[in-house]
Amino acid sequence: MDHDVLLPGETLGLMGGGQLGRMFAQAAATMGYHVAVLEPGATSPAGEVALRQIAARYDDAEGLRTLAQTVRAVTTEFENVPAASLRALADAGLRTTPSADAVAATQNRNVEKAFIKRAGVPVAPHARVASEADVAALPAELFPGILKTASLGYDGKGQARVANVEETLEAFRAFGGVECVLEKRLALKLEVSVIVCRGLDGATKTFPVSENVHRNGILAVSVMPARIDDATANRAREYAGRIAEALDYRGVLCVELFILEDGSILANELAPRPHNSGHATIDACVMSQYEAQVRVMAGLPLGSTEQHSASVMLNLLGDLWFDEKGEAATPDWAKLLSIPGVKLHLYGKAEARPARKMGHVTVVAPTGELAMARAREAARVLG
Ligand code: ADP
Ligand code: MG
Repeated sequence: MDHDVLLPGETLGLMGGGQLGRMFAQAAATMGYHVAVLEPGATSPAGEVALRQIAARYDDAEGLRTLAQTVRAVTTEFENVPAASLRALADAGLRTTPSADAVAATQNRNVEKAFIKRAGVPVAPHARVASEADVAALPAELFPGILKTASLGYDGKGQARVANVEETLEAFRAFGGVECVLEKRLALKLEVSVIVCRGLDGATKTFPVSENVHRNGILAVSVMPARIDDATANRAREYAGRIAEALDYRGVLCVELFILEDGSILANELAPRPHNSGHATIDACVMSQYEAQVRVMAGLPLGSTEQHSASVMLNLLGDLWFDEKGEAATPDWAKLLSIPGVKLHLYGKAEARPARKMGHVTVVAPTGELAMARAREAARVLG
């Protein structure tokens, strides 16, 4: 190996204090590492389980300096971390996994699509829209379409369904004239994702494909492995690996994919970090996506992405903390935990709000059918 291995006992740096960072910090702690979190809030889900929290904005020079003096490697738990901050940390001599360039590539849907295509992976027909003239020039075959802001969209935000040029112009103006992409709206058979990890030495591994169901634009359920044939699963995993290689990626990357009626697979978008659809790797795989993140940044070999239990993951949104009348309520944890195979993960967030991600449940079983039956029971208990 031509890089230092950061040994257990070292402190690893993390940009962002959310739940993905919390699960990263937990995986790091399991392997004997400490974590220093840079995050603006005084308290955070990750900060609560980390050795140290540096309360500073993500672009605060003083905060970044403190982090650079505390750790030798840094990672991120959210995609909108300023690439300039990662660049500054790299310039200060830190190992950044992923790199500022790789993160920047995923922060703009148009740039991201160009990288995906360069990897030889198909994407939905689309056109960049950066001006009203671009709107006027859109070809008819892109309609009906979805106009998406190029940056900062998540959970279906920054998107508008449009039937023609007039509606696109209206939506483009409503988004404030920022750079967008118009994608053709496709008939999706299934949405899936693949978590891929790539080590400092370029070794690449993928986790089994996850099948994802969204509600109101937010991930609700992930079934791993996805209920698709082996050839399709292998192609999805191969696509994800190719994209990681095209980005010269180091770290954990999520590739969201669409499967169409004719069986073809398209890449939708990337997340340069562990992903909600990969939570089940904690309880169902030999190595979790978070352990993979730790291993890459420490310069250790990747572990096994093999899945030892079938799994169904249910997101726990803040809505579950309210009854039909809108009064505060508490889910019946004891009843939930009486179901075999249920693993409860809560993120330590003090306040529940509708649509806020409060935790998740992973239901494991020896077979996919049994995991699904148990997950249905869990969903009934949760109401
Ligand atoms: P984000 O997850 O950042 O909000 P996505 O690009 O993943 O944005 O879009 C959100 C959801 O909208 C997808 O999960 C999918 O259900 C739907 N969607 C996005 N693009 C298309 C498309 N081109 N055709 C059909 N459905 C789409
Ligand atoms: Mg998405």
